Amino acid sequence: MQKGSIRVQTENIFPIIKKFLYSEHDIFLRELISNAVDATQKLKTLSSIGEAKGEIGDLSISVTLDATAKTLTISDKGVGMTSEEVDKYINQVAFSGAEEFLNKYKGQNENNIIGHFGLGFYSSFMVSDKVEIITKSFKDSPAVKWECDGSPEYQLEETTKNERGTDIVLFINEESKEFLEAERIKSVLNRFCRFLPVPIFFEGEQINNPTPAWTRKPSELSTEDYQNFYKELYPYNEAPLFWIHLNVDYPFNLTGILYFPRIKQSFEIQKDKIQLYSNQVFVTDEVKDIVPEFLMLLQGVIDSPDIPLNVSRSYLQGDPNVRKINNHITKKVADKLEEIFNKDRKEFEEKWESLGLFVKYGMMTDDKFLEKAEKFHVMQDATDNHFYTLEEYKASTSALQKNKEGKQVILYATDNIQQDAFIKGATNKGYKVVKLETIVDAAFINQMEMKWSDVHFVRVDADIADNLIDKQESSDSVLNKEQEEQLRKLFEQQPAGLHLTVEVKGLSPEAPPVVATRPEFMRRMKDMAAVSGPMGSFYANMPDEVTLTINGNHSIYQQILTQNDSGTQEKLVRNLADLALLSQGLLKGAALTTFIERSVDLMAKKEVAGTEV
Ligand code: ADP
Ligand code: MG
Repeated sequence: MQKGSIRVQTENIFPIIKKFLYSEHDIFLRELISNAVDATQKLKTLSSIGEAKGEIGDLSISVTLDATAKTLTISDKGVGMTSEEVDKYINQVAFSGAEEFLNKYKGQNENNIIGHFGLGFYSSFMVSDKVEIITKSFKDSPAVKWECDGSPEYQLEETTKNERGTDIVLFINEESKEFLEAERIKSVLNRFCRFLPVPIFFEGEQINNPTPAWTRKPSELSTEDYQNFYKELYPYNEAPLFWIHLNVDYPFNLTGILYFPRIKQSFEIQKDKIQLYSNQVFVTDEVKDIVPEFLMLLQGVIDSPDIPLNVSRSYLQGDPNVRKINNHITKKVADKLEEIFNKDRKEFEEKWESLGLFVKYGMMTDDKFLEKAEKFHVMQDATDNHFYTLEEYKASTSALQKNKEGKQVILYATDNIQQDAFIKGATNKGYKVVKLETIVDAAFINQMEMKWSDVHFVRVDADIADNLIDKQESSDSVLNKEQEEQLRKLFEQQPAGLHLTVEVKGLSPEAPPVVATRPEFMRRMKDMAAVSGPMGSFYANMPDEVTLTINGNHSIYQQILTQNDSGTQEKLVRNLADLALLSQGLLKGAALTTFIERSVDLMAKKEVAGTEV
């Protein structure tokens, strides 16, 4: 028997490792099974080049629990190790990983610093009092048994083992006894080992799919295969909209499938995230630094051996490969969207409700994506459901919808029902109004006005139709200055919580008698104030700015101005103003009650007047 001391400077390495690894103990199983997979793959390679002789036989890996002995065993039929190899790879190499770790993080005691720093084989000591390796190499040499109780002392001796391969036996320690429960092991296997390339058995059942869709050629896969794989990943989700099969081998290796999920308008925080794999070993689903932020809503799998198993945040941020991966994914996604848009615009438009969110978010946050997305970003008409690209919208509205600065004005509605009268008013003038009603649109509009310097967005109820496109034209009313002044006075009573500005204009006699509008700028500030910080509360506390535009050409004013009863005259005016506010959703509470009472009162008066005649 060989006895020795593992060559490591630090006397008691294990207590320290345990402390560091505290937050993610279950990765030990991932590490040991990865080693078993590596050993199996090595054997396959050696056999294929004739270095390993004879039948290779069944190569599956098995995980077994022994409750009485309190052991967990990982067995493979891979290359195995000779006594010299155990000495070299376990005593020296594997430990050097542990030592490197300790040197790197000496003196730090953040608990999960190592969450992403695997120690390979030695992570087994996080959960074990003692670890045994019983291994027989594919080479003609005796089987050996190595054991170590977590102190730097180990024992290495010959043993009997008939089959080629390695058993790693963990004597699970008291504080880790959860790993003696089948359910716990099953869930860890399911998390980390689901798509490993070698069959893995636990309790008589194979727990993995060794050839998941992303590892296969796109040409071999049907639509159904892609959808089935999606179901395998996210069993409870609706079928995805479409997917992108990634396959890159230069300048880095990357495969994967990204799915576009169906998103509802009021989408919840994403729980089904993209999963990152390294050679089919699950690494993490915290892919924040690898996938561009705006694509975090996508789902699926990315597999890259160029990303080490044990990724740390700081590593990822500084890694040039990660940047490249990021750019590549962005480009692929943009290309795919453009392809669908060009090939099947109808399908694209049908999916816009879900897609729009990605696209707009991408356009706001990534200039490279913006450049591409301008070709396929669409806006839907608020009245006839037609979709325009920006170019198409410009082409069909440029004659009418240019303001005095020559900017293209995009008229939009956020609520078809509430803004109905305004939409009608605008379309009657020949304008085109688009729907921008999703949760990202307010921010989108602000961002795009900065990026598209020749475009100005105006909400359809920001002003009366005649003024929506600021052309500095004026129109005269049939009223004389005195009458206009009289009307202005009548309308100028300030309701609580509002700041009214009254103007008299000569609009078409068919246009409404009064229109209430909220200036675009103030309304946007208020909308943003509703969701943001200190600057926000400044705007939030300001009264609502409302402009009442009185259409002097409307026939009702002839009646009102000649009305003898000043009480009735005031009531009529107040009712007209309230109707206008009502259409903007600004008439609430007591003001609304007063309006109703006043309306009833006016109707009753009419009734009396009627009987008198
Ligand atoms: P890594 O896998 O990153 O090399 P590990 O600490 O996980 O580091 O393993 C150290 C070495 O021990 C491996 O490179 C391999 O040579 C050897 N080894 C570990 N497990 C096995 C196994 N099941 N079969 C054969 N060799 C193994
Ligand atoms: Mg390893």
